[in-house]
Amino acid sequence: MPELPEVEIARRNLVRWLDGRRVVRAEADDTRVFRGARRQDFASLQGRLESLERRGKYLLFTFEGGRGLMAHLGMTGRFLRRPEGVPVPYSRARFYLDSGEVIHFADSRLFGRMEPCPASRLYALDAVKELGRDPLAEGLTAGQLQEALGTSRQALKVALMDQGRVTGLGNIHAAEALYRAGLHPARAPASLSPAEWARLADAIHASIAFGLEEQQGDEPAYLEDGAENRFLVYGRAGTPCARCGATVESFTQGGRTTHCCPQCQPLHPARKPPDGRRKTAARRR
Ligand SMILES: [Zn+2]
Repeated sequence: MPELPEVEIARRNLVRWLDGRRVVRAEADDTRVFRGARRQDFASLQGRLESLERRGKYLLFTFEGGRGLMAHLGMTGRFLRRPEGVPVPYSRARFYLDSGEVIHFADSRLFGRMEPCPASRLYALDAVKELGRDPLAEGLTAGQLQEALGTSRQALKVALMDQGRVTGLGNIHAAEALYRAGLHPARAPASLSPAEWARLADAIHASIAFGLEEQQGDEPAYLEDGAENRFLVYGRAGTPCARCGATVESFTQGGRTTHCCPQCQPLHPARKPPDGRRKTAARRR
């Protein structure tokens, strides 16, 4: 579930928690969070945090001495700060600070990933070097969005979730951005007009801004944990669209469940509905 906004909030929290502090001890349990990586190197992540960058859903730590860490939250991963001695369920790795606090990486389902490596190699890691443009860290204009997605033969939403094109959007924020832009998830990217690319770029930024606002604070709350669903269309199949009152639909696309409003996000936008269904639905509200 964590997408760009949740990972960005984690980044901001970690920067704040580590500001002016030193990591005096680092330890990690033997779990599959470290699959393919050298878990024993985690213990060398000590001293001051020099920088913490985010690309898409990846966090890239640089500690003093040039020691680096790549972290991905997976589905249920989160960083939590607790006083020393307070147990944290599903804690998989820990930074002990000179303040007596501990930053835990907790992950119940173990889809998260950690890879310690020299900081100079962080952007050369396979997972990181192939990432496309990050809308928040690097900016994303309508032209850049069209350049990244316009040649894709995949459906628009599938292309939007392709981390090699634009990075950071997952199933939730891709659905939200398309709803905000009034674009059907199954549209062919090549069919979008310049005005539609502009609407989609604006919608991506709006969806990220909404997510950042929603998730701010020390304790992230994911839908999987029973957090209230405050999204506009994601997870709302069978309920009335907040904008037009039509029933939100869901279907499977690229192996994932997609949600959209059939009235606000027409699959064939140029074609007027012959029976005037659209007007009737709008008037009903
Ligand atoms: Zn609608």
